[in-house]
Amino acid sequence: MSNLESDPQETVCEARAGGPAHELLEGRDVVLGGTRGMKVTRTLPSRDRRMVGAWCFVDHYGPEPAAMRVAPHPHTGLQTVTWLLEGEVLHRDSLGSEQVITPGRLNLMTAGRAISHAEESPAEGVLHGVQLWVALPDGSRHTDPAFDHHPDLPVLTAPGVTTTVIIGELGGATSPARAYTPLVGAEVALEAGAAVTLPVRPDFEYAALVLAGAAEVDGEALEPGPLLYLGQGRTELAVAAGPASRVLLLGGEPFEEQLVMWWNFVGRTHEEIERFRKEWAEGGAFGTVEGFDGAPLPAPALPGTRLKPRPRHR
Ligand code: MN
Repeated sequence: MSNLESDPQETVCEARAGGPAHELLEGRDVVLGGTRGMKVTRTLPSRDRRMVGAWCFVDHYGPEPAAMRVAPHPHTGLQTVTWLLEGEVLHRDSLGSEQVITPGRLNLMTAGRAISHAEESPAEGVLHGVQLWVALPDGSRHTDPAFDHHPDLPVLTAPGVTTTVIIGELGGATSPARAYTPLVGAEVALEAGAAVTLPVRPDFEYAALVLAGAAEVDGEALEPGPLLYLGQGRTELAVAAGPASRVLLLGGEPFEEQLVMWWNFVGRTHEEIERFRKEWAEGGAFGTVEGFDGAPLPAPALPGTRLKPRPRHR
């Protein structure tokens, strides 16, 4: 057996396994393609922590005037969760789905073994939202692709606080969105000065991202930008707003399978990713997105070195 990580001694820095943590993942700015581009802050995967539960990708963009125009591209082995606070995005995919998403509704795309999709904003205007990926466990990652739009999501209410359960379960409220591992994604909307104690599960690990305003999460002052990793072992999580705020809560059972994530693919081995890339270049397996005015995105070149399976944190 061999440790696949390049610097194994770093693992001793790991916080007490299974316990609460406060780890600020700063994220980095990434410009998505298109002539005007769109700036996103990517907090997962980060160098030290690649996943929170099955959540493996977190992009936050806006609020700013922007035109989203993401040409057809493939996905494997994941679900995409599209959640907006402002604006509209039109989704089209290789199953023939065509769906405009507006704030407070969920677009959930299950790539399974193969899907392709395109996303664009139908009108110029302010865009504000998150694009999240959920890794599918090995037993489900070859499932048929699917697309679901969920306009009605359960909410938990407290004075000045509305918590929408986007996917998974929180405090007894369960989203109708299909999840393949025990997890939660929820948006906590707080009026200025409002506070709430969320009921959370000790077996889940959690992280929080302020999307708007400014809030204290478990006593840590947060503004839009970093993702606060909170670890496991909690039964309650305190959130308190300064100004009116929106806080995204992500959590789930720690995802123990090692992933190879490259470009838009989630797989398990270098060879698998090579095959996905070849299948996208050749067409066929990923289907065709109708109605998008433009060419599909070509996959970038694979790196010169082999892609290695990575654990959820180092
Ligand atoms: Mn995509």
